Amino acid sequence: MLNVWAVVQLIDPFGRTVRDLRISITDRCNFRCTYCMPEEGMAWLDRKEILTFEEIERLATICVQRFDVDSIRLTGGEPTVRAHLPVLVEKLAQLKVPNTAQSPLAGKNIDLALTTNGATLRLIADELKSAGLSRINISLDTLKSEKFFKITRRDHLANVLDGIDAAIQVGFAPVKINAVVQRGVNDDEILALASFGRNKKVEVRFIEFMPLDAQGQWQRNDVVGQDEIVATINNVYPLEQVAARGAAPADRWRYLDGAGTVGVIPSVTKPFCGDCDRVRLTAEGQFRTCLFSTTEFDLRAMLRGDATDDAIAAEIARAVGTKWAGHAIGNVTFVRPKRSMSQIGG
Ligand code: SAM
Ligand code: SF4
Repeated sequence: MLNVWAVVQLIDPFGRTVRDLRISITDRCNFRCTYCMPEEGMAWLDRKEILTFEEIERLATICVQRFDVDSIRLTGGEPTVRAHLPVLVEKLAQLKVPNTAQSPLAGKNIDLALTTNGATLRLIADELKSAGLSRINISLDTLKSEKFFKITRRDHLANVLDGIDAAIQVGFAPVKINAVVQRGVNDDEILALASFGRNKKVEVRFIEFMPLDAQGQWQRNDVVGQDEIVATINNVYPLEQVAARGAAPADRWRYLDGAGTVGVIPSVTKPFCGDCDRVRLTAEGQFRTCLFSTTEFDLRAMLRGDATDDAIAAEIARAVGTKWAGHAIGNVTFVRPKRSMSQIGG
């Protein structure tokens, strides 16, 4: 029998509609970026604790078919270290936004994206494209090998650059580059990274450093803010702001000489919580309504305890009903979540 239910929007207590689901598919990673993981000593999840592809697909289907979610991003940890990633991509890429949804993608396939450090992307870029992945973001904080090693604790700059080329060659559009800027670490490379994006015709998105490093060493002084990043680029390559950001996290600028666009994600200096449309699922199936949430909803227990789709949908709606107005980084009231970035899914 065909199940028929009305598509309802997931609207939080502050009137924001949830449309974007970020799914972490592993807590593991082949890098150890200083702003994310410790060099050693991470306690890894056991394999059986991690959601299976079938479990991920079931939750994603509930979100898309019942709640008008039209965008899914796979992340981690490093999503490419999870075996058979293209198989999962192929399953999720087939999800269609219902005709009755209010999304601009109604009747079309969901927007399926991946965030990766790019180190092994060359090996699977083609397969990911064929499997139906729409978009890809690759992290790159420096163009200097020694600094790359200092930041990621791995010597893989050449592989990442090759991964970026592979993503462009197989035709992902857009390819975006994520660069976390840290004072005294890579703030001297803002221009070099912007030039890299201009030359490769990809959008570089500078990310303000957030207090989600596993070692808890984040300090406000380490953050290089949006205004400084934009001024640094604008001095050499004049920019004009691209209007409405909507729910996307990046503010964007256009190069006046026509060499594309550049973005900044100003999570610390200009939080965009008022427009946030995101929810998150950790690798072990904990549903979170904010990167900085201190509460989670255990969907894995429901999946493995024979809960119906109706019951899971009700729990997701209940969770969204607790979404707060925004994080309070920089205020005395701010409480760091227990999880660090790789354990949440950035
Ligand atoms: N491993 C993949 C990668 O690095 O692209 C995906 C997961 S990673 C947690 C997702 C994004 O979060 C990356 O672009 C990374 O640079 C960013 N990130 C990690 N820790 C961060 C922090 N403390 N502040 C800001 N961005 C951070
Ligand atoms: Fe791994 Fe990404 Fe975290 Fe770096 S930022 S340690 S690549 S999960």
